[in-house]
Amino acid sequence: MSISLLNEPAEQNLNRLLETCHRNLKTVDDGLIRKAFQFSYTAHQNIQRASGEPYFIHPLAVATILAEELILDDISVAAALLHDIIEDTDYEFDFLKKEFGVTVANLVDGATKITDMFKSHEVTEAESFRKLMLFMIKDIRVILVKFADRLHNMRTLQFLPHPKQVKIATETLDIYAPLAHRFGLWQIKWELEDLSFKYLNPESYEDIFRKVNARREEREGYIGQFTNPIAERLTAAGFHFELSGRPKHFYSIYNKMVNRGKPFEEIYDLFAVRIILDTQQAYDCFTVYGIVSDIYFPVPVRFKDYISVPKHNGYQSIHTTVVGPEGKLVEVQIRTRKMHEIAEKGVAAHWSYKEAGESVVNKQSDEWISWVREIFDQADSSENPNQFIEDFKLNLFQDEIFIFTPKGDLKILPKGSTPVDFAYEIHTNVGNHCIGAKINGKIVPLNTRIDNGNQVEIITSKNQKPNPDWEKFVVTHKAKSKIRAFLNEEKRKITELGREMWEKRVKKLKLKFTDLELNKLTQDLKYSNQSAFFYAIGFGLFNHEDYLEKYIIRQTAKKEQKADEKPEFGTFEEFVKTSRSGQKTLVVEGKNANIQMNYAKCCNPVPGDEIVGYVTIGEGIKVHRKNCRNIVNYSNSEVLRLVDVDWPKGAHEDFMAGIRLSGEDRKGLVSDITNVISKTMNTNIRGLNFNTKDGIFDGSIIVFVNDVDHLLRIIDRMKRIEGVKSVARLEE
Ligand code: MN
Repeated sequence: MSISLLNEPAEQNLNRLLETCHRNLKTVDDGLIRKAFQFSYTAHQNIQRASGEPYFIHPLAVATILAEELILDDISVAAALLHDIIEDTDYEFDFLKKEFGVTVANLVDGATKITDMFKSHEVTEAESFRKLMLFMIKDIRVILVKFADRLHNMRTLQFLPHPKQVKIATETLDIYAPLAHRFGLWQIKWELEDLSFKYLNPESYEDIFRKVNARREEREGYIGQFTNPIAERLTAAGFHFELSGRPKHFYSIYNKMVNRGKPFEEIYDLFAVRIILDTQQAYDCFTVYGIVSDIYFPVPVRFKDYISVPKHNGYQSIHTTVVGPEGKLVEVQIRTRKMHEIAEKGVAAHWSYKEAGESVVNKQSDEWISWVREIFDQADSSENPNQFIEDFKLNLFQDEIFIFTPKGDLKILPKGSTPVDFAYEIHTNVGNHCIGAKINGKIVPLNTRIDNGNQVEIITSKNQKPNPDWEKFVVTHKAKSKIRAFLNEEKRKITELGREMWEKRVKKLKLKFTDLELNKLTQDLKYSNQSAFFYAIGFGLFNHEDYLEKYIIRQTAKKEQKADEKPEFGTFEEFVKTSRSGQKTLVVEGKNANIQMNYAKCCNPVPGDEIVGYVTIGEGIKVHRKNCRNIVNYSNSEVLRLVDVDWPKGAHEDFMAGIRLSGEDRKGLVSDITNVISKTMNTNIRGLNFNTKDGIFDGSIIVFVNDVDHLLRIIDRMKRIEGVKSVARLEE
């Protein structure tokens, strides 16, 4: 390759570019940039731009945008200098690879392919867009070089004939600006939009331009009046900051006027102010928010915290609207310098925050992918953080595939993802209601594994709900957690409904079930616990009305039987009722009395408990514990019927008492418990009832004790059994 000597202006240009690179970039390969510059200068030597300048001014300008505005790296600056070589000269890819290395050659080749693709005029179709996206994700610098190229062409569009201006501006507005938006390159997006607007709709552009200039002074005056008190307070608080009236872009004003059907004045008078803090600490933004709301009254519904919950593309800021002087509403954005750069430069800002490495391409693409992953997944960190981190780590090690919506939007999902994963990636509601899917236009089952680059369309139906089977085949954390959340919530609702139905019916039939009776009942019916039982009722799997009717008939029959036969002890309460009533000795009002009495089954007193008697009609005295909640709630007339009672001295009677306990289930636990009671404590057990669910057991034991001390000793001893977490006397 022969290199022409640079003339003097060219030599000055090169030196200026190198200076810019050294000022902004982390590392600069001077030799590479010098060589690329000289080669570009030579290869384009006899060509001129429409402006009459030598052609190499264009690649130089594109390279300068990358070094000064996007702030990428020396590789992309070199590629920018060479970006039109393959298209406009006879040199080809292999030559560039040999002279400048494979990375630079790939970037130039990629930028050229993007140009070709756009020239084919099919880019509005999702198919081409998809290919383009796949291509660019390999190395994000390709698209950044292309954006810089387009930006310079738009900035110098005045030199082209009108039809060409319209064609290029249309292409820019249709393709490049939305693409810049997708990559978070706001600054480029706005400039491309305003420049396109200028050429496509010169009258409206001029009109807005004139009006903005006419009101500039007034506007700046107001902004100053608004910001001065804030600036004072921030300085006093020791903040370093930049405070500015947020510039309004002509095209966005125009769009708002058209979309909202409002005159210029109304759109333009919505003032907006931005506070950029020179701090590393995100929480400083909240302090500053506090200061601003101290000065101006905030409109509560307009507060948005994108710092705790960033937007999908990584955007972070606080947005608040306050009432400024003259009662005008002013939007205030508060963010750190770093947040601001990401907000303005998107993926390019991300680039400048990472350290320069050796294997730039791999590192860059890895980081790009994980950056995209992070921002895609951030919105989803609501539930159990540990589970989330585990799933997220798993996702990081999985291969990824790129999937496209029918509109050409890109979604990155783990390999093996199904249409259900994809549906949840779009939106929770799309996931919850998805009923079918098309891959590349063909209807497929919901558990189909999607291939890289496929286009997927989700079919939804209002009546569709997540199916428990989905949990078995989805792979993304997001889909899993959303399905789980939906199913749990539905289960909870049905269980609650079942409980209500049951309680209503029980009340109507004037029945009463204690917790213990209900546990026994659900166990007899082979339900794992009460929740499962109520769920069955709520879901219509168990006819509780039928059951309760038969229950009443059975109870009546039992009662009649009992009158003649020796009683069979069905439940704890029945036992209490029968065994603990009768003619007994009791100290009533200080004197031993042999009277008709029974022990209240609501509190099951045992010797040692403080007790009180209640004179019933026809059943003698009913003995309660003094702290029984029934006694506490007695009405005045009932209280009149209470008598002082006490345990007779030296009575050797066995009393029943209930113990409730719970803890972690393990093998041999029940036998340890029964051993402690019967062997260690030498106590008889009347009955046991245990439920185990998810490794947690919960149960009750009925034992025979002599008195309260005896009972407390048992409770104390049981607390020391491995796995037992809580033990307490059963109070009904
Ligand atoms: Mn170009």
